Amino acid sequence: MMSVHSFSFVRPPAEAESLRTQVRAFLAEALADRSPLRRADSWMGADPAFSRELARRGWVGMTLPRAYGGHEAGPWARYVVIEELLAAGAPVSAHWIADRQSGPLILRYGTEAQRQAHLPGICRGERYFCIGMSEPNSGSDLASIRSRAVRDGEHWVLNGQKVWTTNAHHSHFMIGLLRTGEKTENRHGGMSQFIIDLKAPGVTVRPITDLSGGRHFNEVYFDNVRLGADALIGAEGQGWEQVTAELAFERSGPERFLSSMALLHTLVDAIGPRPDAAQAAAVGRLVARLAALRQMSLSVTADLAAGQDPAWAASCVKDLGAVFEQDIPEIAQAVLDASPSVDGGSDHAQVLAALMQMAPSFSLRGGTREILRGIIARGLGLR
Ligand SMILES: Cc1cc2nc3c(=O)[nH]c(=O)nc-3n(C[C@H](O)[C@H](O)[C@H](O)COP(=O)(O)OP(=O)(O)OC[C@H]3O[C@@H](n4cnc5c(N)ncnc54)[C@H](O)[C@@H]3O)c2cc1C
Repeated sequence: MMSVHSFSFVRPPAEAESLRTQVRAFLAEALADRSPLRRADSWMGADPAFSRELARRGWVGMTLPRAYGGHEAGPWARYVVIEELLAAGAPVSAHWIADRQSGPLILRYGTEAQRQAHLPGICRGERYFCIGMSEPNSGSDLASIRSRAVRDGEHWVLNGQKVWTTNAHHSHFMIGLLRTGEKTENRHGGMSQFIIDLKAPGVTVRPITDLSGGRHFNEVYFDNVRLGADALIGAEGQGWEQVTAELAFERSGPERFLSSMALLHTLVDAIGPRPDAAQAAAVGRLVARLAALRQMSLSVTADLAAGQDPAWAASCVKDLGAVFEQDIPEIAQAVLDASPSVDGGSDHAQVLAALMQMAPSFSLRGGTREILRGIIARGLGLR
């Protein structure tokens, strides 16, 4: 029989909602001078001073235990903060991955020494992480990675290459997935996760310039990188299970449908208070889709908080969210006669150009559309 998961109607509890006013007030002041174009960078914009200031207010690593500098806030408080940061186009990229996934991963799988070493710096907004999964020829088929870590007495020696590593150029550490054993009949075996110090001798980070001229991701090379035994995180050979657990958190947050918010804002401003019928209908439909996606994302957050594994529902949020984010530049062009401009022009023209260049990547990063739809089909019992 087909097992069908339904999305439920949930709202963040009042206690978490009460944070919203504080966060908004802080952002209104802190981002007063931030242009719409810079707001379009959203979670790709890095600003370590901003990250530290957020942390000072208790809004980085907020779900982590107090013993490590966190605030033991529940997932809803974090959701409200993240939602406000992204809706405002705050520059959260520096601490983003550490806050979203490396911190929780270290808490869950790390030794006490690893927790003590990394979590306080994450909670201060000072220690940044990147994700080393993809390799040349190993993206969707992650189990085919070839980078390897080999035991040498008390050390691990790493060789290989990662690619598309967002933020490696301003991160201190990578949590990397490496091969530590041979493939057996279980093709997901023989992989382990490592906390890799990006300053270690033998690590080379080379930037890749993207379509918009931005430098967000990198190639990372390992050439006989020697790490201590304590670089292994979690159990040897359990890397696949650990990575899979990470991905449900990576695929359902508000970042999966808010990436084009700066453009929705400039579109509404550019249309002005007297939209024609087509403009009113288009903006109305976009806002209705936004509300539905938000509701789905809240529902997955509730499942994660209840300890369930909503992998396919998280994939629905990411897939439908990316379609929504990619539709906004298309719809903006269809309902308003404004040309995109990379070189001056109105706020709307500049944000439109930026989003048109960024949008193709929304359905690649974090798992491609085809891969997500495969997970959804499996969840629905269709394959
Ligand atoms: C902006 C951005 C940031 C990124 N940041 C990171 C990062 O920080 N860390 C990291 O590790 N990676 C990162 N990635 C890499 C990303 O995870 C991969 O690009 C993605 O998983 C796809 O892998 P690939 O590029 O090798 O494409 P491929 O896997 O080669 O896919 C190419 C095409 O074939 C399709 N395809 C592949 N297999 C199947 C299949 N079985 N069935 C149907 N269709 C299939 C895909 O859907 C896609 O359309 C980033 C990517 C982008 C765009």
